[in-house]
Amino acid sequence: LFVDTPLGEGVAVPVDGNAAHYLIGVMRVKAEDVVLLFDGRSGEWAARARDIRKRDLMLVCERQTKPLESVPDFWLCCAPVRKGRIDLIAEKACELGAARLQPVLTRRAVVDRLNLDRLRAHLVEAAEQCGRTAIPELGRMVKLDALLKDWPGERWLFFADETGGAPLEEALRAHPGPAAFLIGPEGGFDPAEREAIRGGAKAVPVSLGPRILRAETAAIAATSAWMALNGD
Ligand code: SAM
Repeated sequence: LFVDTPLGEGVAVPVDGNAAHYLIGVMRVKAEDVVLLFDGRSGEWAARARDIRKRDLMLVCERQTKPLESVPDFWLCCAPVRKGRIDLIAEKACELGAARLQPVLTRRAVVDRLNLDRLRAHLVEAAEQCGRTAIPELGRMVKLDALLKDWPGERWLFFADETGGAPLEEALRAHPGPAAFLIGPEGGFDPAEREAIRGGAKAVPVSLGPRILRAETAAIAATSAWMALNGD
């Protein structure tokens, strides 16, 4: 269970709301049961359930059960897509091990706002489900030109371009180190955007194969491929 409280030996964490309902009503947690907690910063902790009431309980941290995971240095930068699809991208990026999800506003994006709280909730839920002890960072949405202008010099930007690029495996092997993938919206990047991305010093245009993938498929395929070669 994720809690937004720094954990440590002896720390008592009051739990109410949905989390308490899940523990008490669904998991049938009783006094003295052990619940596993993580705070996204200090690994996983075994906590003892105390003071169980109808709608709240207390969890007291006893010992660390896992250290904070080492996260592969991979970012997923993607244009916002419709609600269910961006939620799916967030969930899968977290499960597959991404360190950061960075929304990027492009000209053909059909969505120009994102509910970051909802997206973060999906990241947290996915982390709980897959046993991650770190939640991927979630960037605020930035415009494509700002992303390119401020691009960190040490990080490869693999540009998923359905109009042509290097074969994926070859490109990934030739460019080890910190990486990000850039995936466009439903309507793709426009020609000027494509040119601007390709003009960036760290850009590596790559193909994800001969078929046009939906944005969420491209995001999941790219993340899986990078993790298969570089992830833990
Ligand atoms: N402009 C395209 C069209 O309407 O024909 C569709 C864009 S596609 C649905 C969304 C994004 O997924 C693209 O901008 C690209 O980043 C990525 N993508 C999809 N298929 C790809 C492929 N075969 N190779 C590389 N990237 C791909």
